[in-house]
Amino acid sequence: TIVLQARGVVRAYGATPALRGVTLDVEEGEILAITGPSGCGKSTLLHCLAGIMRPDSGEVVYRGARVDTLSEARRSRLRRGDFGVLFQFGQLVAELSAADNVALPLLLAGTGRREARTVALAWLERVGVGDVADSRPGEMSGGQQQRCAMARALVTEPRVVFADEPTGALDTLAGEQVLTQLVRVAHEQRTTVVLVTHEARVAGYADREIVLTDGTVDDTGLGIALPAGR
Ligand code: ADP
Ligand code: ADP
Repeated sequence: TIVLQARGVVRAYGATPALRGVTLDVEEGEILAITGPSGCGKSTLLHCLAGIMRPDSGEVVYRGARVDTLSEARRSRLRRGDFGVLFQFGQLVAELSAADNVALPLLLAGTGRREARTVALAWLERVGVGDVADSRPGEMSGGQQQRCAMARALVTEPRVVFADEPTGALDTLAGEQVLTQLVRVAHEQRTTVVLVTHEARVAGYADREIVLTDGTVDDTGLGIALPAGR
């Protein structure tokens, strides 16, 4: 089942073209890596797919409905509901503990405090950082912060998680831990993941890879199926 599509997506920044007509399908439950060198348009594509940015032309379709034509308010609601985002730097709230950071999306969605804390603690455990639940981001390692950010992105059980260079700020070992947990949890939850990276090693965690070259994808838009059993 196709969950998300880009159809002829074009986007420029002033005179600088970033996407020159990108068409691709994302299958429900897959981990799709979008790769390519710096400046090829990966972030722009991810922002368009996630409804953060509007394309200049072309369409973004999520479960059969246009995303790009939705109002900012509707797109924002989508990002708090069906979509989750994980960026290079976790963007955790510095003043809040790990548990409070993870509980935040639940509180915003109307969950009660006690329930939100219980669920947040379970998610921190699940991604292997239960021991830092009461630490603030400044007291945690980069890898712990990013796993906390991952728990925060997953706590609302989104259908699609968008990850932009999620290990870009981490050393190899911490990066591997983050990716291993992300892949395991995504497969367990049947969460679709769209992962943007310029690192071949990171793309190796995906089920399929689409290479972006200078704002376009290869002719088929099907990408490369990666061997299972990592
Ligand atoms: P990638 O994520 O692959 O590095 P980006 O999507 O960030 O690629 O950028 C694609 C192109 O758009 C690059 O040429 C980049 O310099 C340009 N670009 C990205 N963001 C902006 C911006 N805010 N203003 C101007 N140009 C931008
Ligand atoms: P990435 O790590 O995804 O390649 P960059 O480091 O290229 O991202 O860009 C970081 C930020 O700077 C983004 O918000 C992007 O939109 C912006 N940006 C990128 N290229 C340009 C550019 N040529 N002019 C202005 N802003 C840019």
